Amino acid sequence: MTGSVANAALLQLQGEILEDVAHGVPLASIADRICTNAERLAEGAICSILTVDAAGRLHPLSAPSLPDSYSSAIDGLQAGPLAGSCGTAAWYAEPVEAVDIGTDPRWASYRQFALDIGLRACWSSPIKTIDGRVVGTFAFYYREPRGPTTLEREIVAHCVHVCAIAITHDEAQARINQLAYYDALTGLPNRAEFQRLVQNALAALPSGSVLNIHYVDLDDFKAVNDSFGHRAGDQLLDQVARRLTAIVGDADVRVARMGGDEFALMQVCADGESDGHALASRIVAAIDEPFDIEEARVGVGASLGVAQTRAGTMPLSELFKRADLALYTAKREGGRKYHFFAPEMEALVQLRLSLKQDLRSALAGGEFRLAYQPIVALASSELVAVEALLRWRHPSQGEVPPAVFIPIVEEMGLIGPLGDWVLREACRAAAAWPQPIKVGVNLSPLQLRRPGLVQNVIEVLRETGLPPDRLDLEVTESALLARDAATRLALHDLHDHGVRLSLDDFGTGYSSLQLLRMFPFDRIKIDMSFVRDIGLDADSMAIVDAVIRLAGELGLRSAAEGVETASQFEWLLRHECSEGQGHWFSPPLSDAELRRLLERIGSRDTPILPNAARTIRADRETTPR
Ligand code: C2E
Ligand code: MG
Ligand code: MG
Repeated sequence: MTGSVANAALLQLQGEILEDVAHGVPLASIADRICTNAERLAEGAICSILTVDAAGRLHPLSAPSLPDSYSSAIDGLQAGPLAGSCGTAAWYAEPVEAVDIGTDPRWASYRQFALDIGLRACWSSPIKTIDGRVVGTFAFYYREPRGPTTLEREIVAHCVHVCAIAITHDEAQARINQLAYYDALTGLPNRAEFQRLVQNALAALPSGSVLNIHYVDLDDFKAVNDSFGHRAGDQLLDQVARRLTAIVGDADVRVARMGGDEFALMQVCADGESDGHALASRIVAAIDEPFDIEEARVGVGASLGVAQTRAGTMPLSELFKRADLALYTAKREGGRKYHFFAPEMEALVQLRLSLKQDLRSALAGGEFRLAYQPIVALASSELVAVEALLRWRHPSQGEVPPAVFIPIVEEMGLIGPLGDWVLREACRAAAAWPQPIKVGVNLSPLQLRRPGLVQNVIEVLRETGLPPDRLDLEVTESALLARDAATRLALHDLHDHGVRLSLDDFGTGYSSLQLLRMFPFDRIKIDMSFVRDIGLDADSMAIVDAVIRLAGELGLRSAAEGVETASQFEWLLRHECSEGQGHWFSPPLSDAELRRLLERIGSRDTPILPNAARTIRADRETTPR
């Protein structure tokens, strides 16, 4: 072939290759086309194109005329100063012309491979990017010892040039894909890629298999970010990603980062329920373990929502929505747990939305009132206090339990005004009662953190004329977990003013004895979940007994919540619990009902009896409200 014919052919090849690149033809096919054309132009040449990875290892890309066994033997070969023609060319970023493989020292370790299949010469050139990085090699082998002609050098130069364009373009494309479909911080698939993965998995789901989506959201990520900075936050997310990846470990589960502190897993399994539960509980447990970041050890939990489907039974958006609802439920229940989607979750969210809309007008429209539940000194059966419990009668929904609406009120930032109203109303009512019994008022965690709490309480006491020692503020353990100095000061300040403090729902939260040392409590209220188990569960009974003793040793009163039966009452009395509250004594009463009860007790000068519940109920039935 003459130089000019070859030149025209090379230009044509170059044009075709550029077109292939522009049309997104896969790199391997482009490389094949270059090899085949080069072999046609350079008679007797056997062409090979290798790529070089970031670690300097060689990988075959195209060598249509070489046996596969030879290519696979090269795969993974490390570039070096004596690594055959290609490995050496990649190492020095310079062309290497081994005129005789049989004698060339750079082939010392590899020559037998080549000689065995009749290869005697190999000239290899590095393929470089514009900035000089070696991304591949282009080689001509010959079956006799020989060096290149000028024309062959020209062919090689052209081929190296188009190879550089094709490989650089392929790298850029891979990088774009990485950015578009993978999360830069953790390297996990991102939301878009996760959706694509789920879609593909659903389309290929074997019959009888189930696809589970697990949505994961960290519980205290914001706190870590706020206290330790964003770098620490990033480290934490990366470690979470690693833990999740380590847990799944098999091909049927994929992990993705959906954004922020949200992750998602796709699980294809035979038994959606038991496999789903197993994975979800492993995730919750793994994220519960502490993380070491920036020389600090932090604990963040994870909340998890699981939704499942079989092939083609549900639109993707519905599946994701369900996982989200389940996650939301787990979060709302305090986190560090998982939930499977259940249809009633949807109704609950709807209810919450509509309640949210109605709450503002409820506050303005006076739909709230207080109920007062008697608290009895067990030893004397005297009514010594009541707890004020907030009630909301919704115009169409009827009574809404405080456990449902108080979290919404908090979310809406309305707990301040509502809490103020409760405090004022309870103190106002108590000041007018015929007996000087105490009144308990619940403070939510957010109320506790509001500045001006102490002044507000003192002001209300002054205005209503209620003596401070008749007000008993109930706070839960979770409200004190932050242990911030302001809360601590506020509670000590209130206590110094004579206000009483109770630790509410003891046993349900962290039950940290340290809290009892840090805050000036007068009373521990034992949560009703333990009281319910009296006579049924030895562990619960041991706990109740221990708390009563502990309170006694610290000079505090103990109160049992939710006393419903005579045997619970008797057991508590025997174990010297100071006070009891519950339906066995009395349900929560209206202000008018309570007044009547107090008047009756006062006039007859008889204490309330354990079976007062019956008396009061009878009283309610005969007295018009
Ligand atoms: P809590 O402070 O532990 O209140 C005791 C709850 O136990 C009340 O539920 C009461 O009605 C219920 N209870 C009393 N005796 C029995 C019994 O024998 N058996 C059973 N099963 N339950 C009994 P309620 O009124 O639904 O209040 C739930 C929670 O809502 C309260 O728990 C308290 O944490 C919160 N809450 C109520 N009123 C207020 C308020 O004004 N402000 C704030 N921040 N929270 C409030
Ligand atoms: Mg309470
Ligand atoms: Mg309680």
